Amino acid sequence: MPFTSLGLSPALLRAVSARAYLAPTAIQAAAIPAVLQGRDVLASAQTGSGKTAAFALPLLQLLQQAPSEKPRRLRLLVLVPTRELAAQVGGEIRSLGQHLPQALKVAVVFGGVSINPQMMNLRGGADIVVATPGRLLDLADHNAVVLSGVAALVLDEADRLLDLGFADELSRILALLPAQRQNLFFSATFPPAVQALAQRLLREPVHIDA
Ligand code: AMP
Repeated sequence: MPFTSLGLSPALLRAVSARAYLAPTAIQAAAIPAVLQGRDVLASAQTGSGKTAAFALPLLQLLQQAPSEKPRRLRLLVLVPTRELAAQVGGEIRSLGQHLPQALKVAVVFGGVSINPQMMNLRGGADIVVATPGRLLDLADHNAVVLSGVAALVLDEADRLLDLGFADELSRILALLPAQRQNLFFSATFPPAVQALAQRLLREPVHIDA
């Protein structure tokens, strides 16, 4: 199946073809149409499966389709377990979105470094935030980020989020999000705690095993 048959906009296809990807990976072929339809997704996904583009491409498209607002409001939240993954995912979202007619602002925030530059960066708002859970809550406590407008939530590497002890932070974040939203859940493994979190989060998800 070619990328062009997945329903992605020309601007996104341009970013894809610049990377010389020959065809969608299995997870991309399954996830992209489902996400574009607004469905929740539960994906069993390893690193290297192409999972980042599998959620970034369709969610970027949905963001573009919604009317833009000034000041920018956070609409897509991606939670990741580590700062390395935050930087990597943020970079990939920026790169895939670089040709969109309306530029989207992507902010990357993580703990272990000073919070002030991140607060400055969030002034004026961001459309997309890629975050580790603890630092996101710190920023929310400082009113540097407002979670009430989030339309889509991605949990990337959910098993590692729980392994690293982020369960309480995740619960606090979920309580700050609107009940009505799209949820995408990616994990390499599904021990009981991960299954329970998925069940709590997802509504009639499309199951993908790539
Ligand atoms: P990920 O699983 O998102 O960490 O992606 C793993 C690697 O696969 C990254 O280097 C991507 O740039 C690359 N990749 C993603 N989608 C494709 C594709 N359709 N064809 C070839 N490589 C890809």
